[in-house]
Amino acid sequence: MQDAAHRVLKQYFGYDEFRKGQGEIISCLLSGKDTVGIMPTGGGKSLCYQIPSLLLPGTTLVISPLISLMKDQVDALANAGIPATFINSSLSFSDGKKRLIQAAGGRYKLVYVAPERLEVPDFLQALERMDVSLVAVDEAHCISQWGHDFRPSYRLIADMIARFPRKPAVAALTATATPRVTDDICRLLHIPQTSVVVTGFARDNLKFQVIRGQNSDTYLNDYLKKNRDQPGIIYAATRKEVDRLCDRLRKDGFAAGKYHAGLSESERADSQERFLYDDLSVLVATNAFGMGINKSNVRYVIHYNMPRNIEAYYQEAGRAGRDGEKSDCILLFSPQDIRLQKFFIEQSEMDDTLKNEEYHKLEQMIGYCHTESCLQAYILRYFGEQNPEPCRHCGNCLDTREKADVTEAAQKVLSCVRRLRERYGKTMVAKVLAGAADQKIIQFKLDSLPTYGIMKDQTQRRIGEFIDFLTAEQYLAQQGGAYPTLMLTARSVPVLKGEARVLKKGAVRAAQLEVHNELF
Ligand code: ADP
Repeated sequence: MQDAAHRVLKQYFGYDEFRKGQGEIISCLLSGKDTVGIMPTGGGKSLCYQIPSLLLPGTTLVISPLISLMKDQVDALANAGIPATFINSSLSFSDGKKRLIQAAGGRYKLVYVAPERLEVPDFLQALERMDVSLVAVDEAHCISQWGHDFRPSYRLIADMIARFPRKPAVAALTATATPRVTDDICRLLHIPQTSVVVTGFARDNLKFQVIRGQNSDTYLNDYLKKNRDQPGIIYAATRKEVDRLCDRLRKDGFAAGKYHAGLSESERADSQERFLYDDLSVLVATNAFGMGINKSNVRYVIHYNMPRNIEAYYQEAGRAGRDGEKSDCILLFSPQDIRLQKFFIEQSEMDDTLKNEEYHKLEQMIGYCHTESCLQAYILRYFGEQNPEPCRHCGNCLDTREKADVTEAAQKVLSCVRRLRERYGKTMVAKVLAGAADQKIIQFKLDSLPTYGIMKDQTQRRIGEFIDFLTAEQYLAQQGGAYPTLMLTARSVPVLKGEARVLKKGAVRAAQLEVHNELF
């Protein structure tokens, strides 16, 4: 079976070897075993179902939310001599119907459809006449509410599969799945947990960096000047910000374009097309841009604002370097981003459970912006990998600044959290430590605590950032929705007892210069 798969790999796609995970997923599917494949972006998920489609009888049905990618995929398959088509809302009614009749007649090896099709009864009836031996679910995380891109119509897939007289094999593929999302994929598609092939999420060619405490506009300008001819994406949180940045970059002579949901369909298509063909070198966009982009030579993805969670960040940043070449993923952090993301969550129509989940994910995103350990490893841990190795090339791994001992400051914060009986959040803890004369502080008599004002030489903002650092390094944990309370962790106990030290980079220079308020 593997020989046949290798032959197809060479004959149709021109490659000699399978990439990590591909061989295993393909042989599972060829032996009729439903399989979940979790591979990083650019890892080669498409071949995992395209090769079986050529070796199995009948047709492979591909469910994909990426309407704009379907055409590219189908064209690429046609070029390789493989009969394929897509059926989606971009077609006229009569074209769609014609393709469906041809598909039912067995004309195509692969048929790509958008999940919304599964809501159309005529379509489902036509499917029953099709000889489908494999169903490939692309972007399978869309089936889970816990994923970052839940699509309700994905929930119809299991019912659709059950309608076939002969059960097809099922391939569910994604690049972003936390253990919880993976569980959902298995449960909702009836795939055993033992049939999950994970090749790891690491993207070795990506260099992750977080820039804090610098003027974002200046940083961006300097970076773009140095990388003028390289294609890249800048993500911003709002349409207004996208408009502003794009105008500014154009004024500064960069070939910049923009993409957000406030533009007309043709304007968006135009930006995407021009970026794809290197007519634009920088595309400034909201998160509306990306799901459908298949540009392999994106050299950098800069987040002008912090996104709402690690999954969204990794997926967006992961659009850099799909060709395997070295690329930058830079996040420009500023504390206002936290407020904005909280506002987005608050305004959303999610129920309270989901909102709390989103707040929790946001905390982990904030942790990413404050950790001093390996950024790639932080992301991998988030996705459930145990003890990932440091990447040795992210901004933190390459940060050679000496570490300073900040144990005493950490003890002050931790004992304040303890004194406050783990009932208050970051803002209040910082206020108490800074000795603020806040109305609430007086009302709750927090000014009589021994830890009141013990860091009054620091600004509340600096203390807040230090708390973020302690949280990112797991000396503190946060729990609760929009205004989480700070709690001690297993790591904080030895620090409080004086049995463990807390070290922090970047504190040395400031301490040596004895800059007031710059201890952290
Ligand atoms: P994904 O969907 O996982 O992001 P794709 O399926 O688009 O990735 O594949 C990314 C690129 O890798 C494509 O250009 C594809 O042709 C190439 N590729 C896939 N498998 C192999 C392989 N075994 N050897 C070499 N290149 C491969």
